[in-house]
Amino acid sequence: MSASVPQVYDTPVFRMACQQFDLVADFLEIPDSARDRLKYPKRSVSVAMPVRRDDGSVTTFMGYRVQHHLTLGPTKGGVRFHPDVTLGEVAALAMWMSWKCALTGLPYGGAKGGVAVNPRELSIGELERVTRRYTQELIPFIGPQTDIPAPDMGTNEQTMAWMMDTYSLQSGHCVPAVVTGKPVSLGGSLGRREATGRGVAYLVSRAMDTLGIPASGATAVVQGYGNVGGIAAATMARQGIKIIAISDAFGGLYNANGIDLAKLDAHVAKTRSVVGFDGAEAITNEQLLVTPCDILVPAALERQITVENAAKIQCRILAEGANGPTTPEADEIIAKRPEIFVIPDILCNAGGVIVSYFEWVQDLQSFFWDEGEVMSKLYRILETSFMQTVNFAKKRKVGMRFAALSLGIQRVHEAKAIRGLFP
Ligand code: NAD
Repeated sequence: MSASVPQVYDTPVFRMACQQFDLVADFLEIPDSARDRLKYPKRSVSVAMPVRRDDGSVTTFMGYRVQHHLTLGPTKGGVRFHPDVTLGEVAALAMWMSWKCALTGLPYGGAKGGVAVNPRELSIGELERVTRRYTQELIPFIGPQTDIPAPDMGTNEQTMAWMMDTYSLQSGHCVPAVVTGKPVSLGGSLGRREATGRGVAYLVSRAMDTLGIPASGATAVVQGYGNVGGIAAATMARQGIKIIAISDAFGGLYNANGIDLAKLDAHVAKTRSVVGFDGAEAITNEQLLVTPCDILVPAALERQITVENAAKIQCRILAEGANGPTTPEADEIIAKRPEIFVIPDILCNAGGVIVSYFEWVQDLQSFFWDEGEVMSKLYRILETSFMQTVNFAKKRKVGMRFAALSLGIQRVHEAKAIRGLFP
């Protein structure tokens, strides 16, 4: 018997992840008795974190960590600092991490963490105290053999350095393998910062090969100009693709002749936003998503492509850099538009966790690889995962998202079945 969605996680994004799972479980004919065990997170932690502000006052922030399944190894997943973070959102992201790791053959279950905070409103000192307090609260739950955090929205290499330092101080020795996405000088991997965006660009070029679209003359639109969107845009531009629209949380830009990314980067370094850049005209995020282009890369938040705009998006390739950018209802609309080739999130942005895995392996062995080795191993895994997904989609006559989710879910299901049920 299937239980209803546990109340603690019940949010639109968690329901969306469950809805995707249920459809795939029906398709794969997973027995009812195995479904809740596969679907719902193994464990989750909520922490109230009092943090001293620069003015002497104290603010209590809410932090979360969800570990989705522990069947194949330790859990792995990013930490998000964003004001809208909830336990349900983190749980959905952890579930997607599980399918992503299984799809790409990594020896991990999925996890995710987050703090409900706007990092832009904190000083560097406050951000460090939030990060250290969050890590301290999670000490009993994380570790190189249990759960390994990494950066996600609103967090970066500096955040990981503070997490690693806090954990190491408690352990009495240096534990670089407790987090990935660290600075290279602290045991981070060469290529990790760029991995997600470069992976997106690699898969875009594979989709272009499949569809016979040449890079020169192709156009791309990118929502979100952070780690994923920024590097994906720069890598696609190097491949000869024209980036005609870009946005961040504050607004968007459009230039039919292509946006000069080097000049845009100088503007963002000064103002911390793409808004106000004089090399393009201003557009809204809503306009950006329906701008005609060859490649559309949502690389910001989940639930951006919805029933409202799914019929209006005008791209040949939808490359989901973000996690969960397309709702299941929008998916149904896109499924009826065979002219759109979808590279689903759990495949498209998998480059990040793949190189995080390499970083963890390098840290555990204290033996480091050069960037060429990292990138060639990354592209090999992405290529295999891409081809497996394309072949599954063709053979079983389903869309790319369904194929990717099916491969991931099936592998976790098989692993759980073969390990058995204790006691
Ligand atoms: P980031 O914080 O570096 O950048 C996020 C960008 O999105 C910023 O430019 C921000 O202004 C913009 N943004 C936020 N809200 C927006 C909105 N409503 N409309 C338009 N833009 C908005 O984060 P990131 O690490 O690049 O992560 C982006 C997405 O990629 C997330 O969904 C994350 O889960 C996913 N992801 C990240 C990684 C990684 O390695 N960093 C790996 C896999 C998936």
